Amino acid sequence: MTSPLSETAPIGDMMTALDSAIAADALSIHYQPVIALSSGRMVGVEALVRWARPDGSFVSPDSFVPSAETTGRIVPMTEWLMRRAASELAPLFAQEPDLHVAVNLSAQHFESERIVDALADCFGHAGIAARRVHLEVTERELLHNRDGLALSVMTSLRRRGHVLALDDFGTGYSDRTALDRFPFDALKIDKSFVAAIADDGAPDESLLRALMIANVRRLSIIAEGIEQDHQARALAALGVQYGQGHFYSRPVGIAALTAYLAARR
Ligand code: C2E
Ligand code: MG
Ligand code: MG
Repeated sequence: MTSPLSETAPIGDMMTALDSAIAADALSIHYQPVIALSSGRMVGVEALVRWARPDGSFVSPDSFVPSAETTGRIVPMTEWLMRRAASELAPLFAQEPDLHVAVNLSAQHFESERIVDALADCFGHAGIAARRVHLEVTERELLHNRDGLALSVMTSLRRRGHVLALDDFGTGYSDRTALDRFPFDALKIDKSFVAAIADDGAPDESLLRALMIANVRRLSIIAEGIEQDHQARALAALGVQYGQGHFYSRPVGIAALTAYLAARR
């Protein structure tokens, strides 16, 4: 029989296993540092859900997150993640007042105002201010939303002080429409643009276009998937403020994150 944690398992089996993992507190979180490219300082982290198999390997979020979205599990899963992230990060955030945490949201989060209170419940109760909790969403998640509702949820989130970032910028069909219609503060340039930076640091035409779009709108820019020194240098020279990627650190558990931060001080 196929294991429910195998990438080829039937969705129903995998989702039943996911329910059990959420109920048993058996998921975990890896945090990827976000770095200010000019100074090398760590400014925050992105929280990424992890689901470990008994052998220690991880089920890829790219396989179970989309299924969790289509089967109604994404809201409970994200609430689990927010609660866990708030409790794991609270001691670190008390010592490091400038750090933020970014959480990935999905289409369902923009179908009611529930997420606004859930964030306050999780992070507010742990003493982490809303301005330190950034929310990432892709254009795909907003595209099919009922008109008006996503905008109203985003407006509420911003009014509370959250920072909104458009994730995977450059991969969607209507990224620019999303920027026109919704009040974003930041833009995350997809890793494919970073990978396309030539060895001599020359950027691809489409990267330059993305940067121009962000600059015109006065959005802050975070580059994803920085794997090499020349990419970090080229992005900094182009005025990109922030970056994340294996070059700085892979996503890691809370203990390794704390050690990483201490080593950079
Ligand atoms: P994302 O939000 O764009 O997250 C960035 C992904 O890039 C992460 O993959 C991260 O591990 C990977 N990455 C980081 N640095 C590098 C690098 O230098 N090179 C390369 N090639 N990859 C890098 P991950 O953790 O497998 O997550 C994949 C996607 O699954 C995420 O993309 C996000 O869309 C989704 N996801 C992950 N965790 C959550 C979650 O808690 N909630 C929701 N809704 N989606 C999540
Ligand atoms: Mg993200
Ligand atoms: Mg991304």
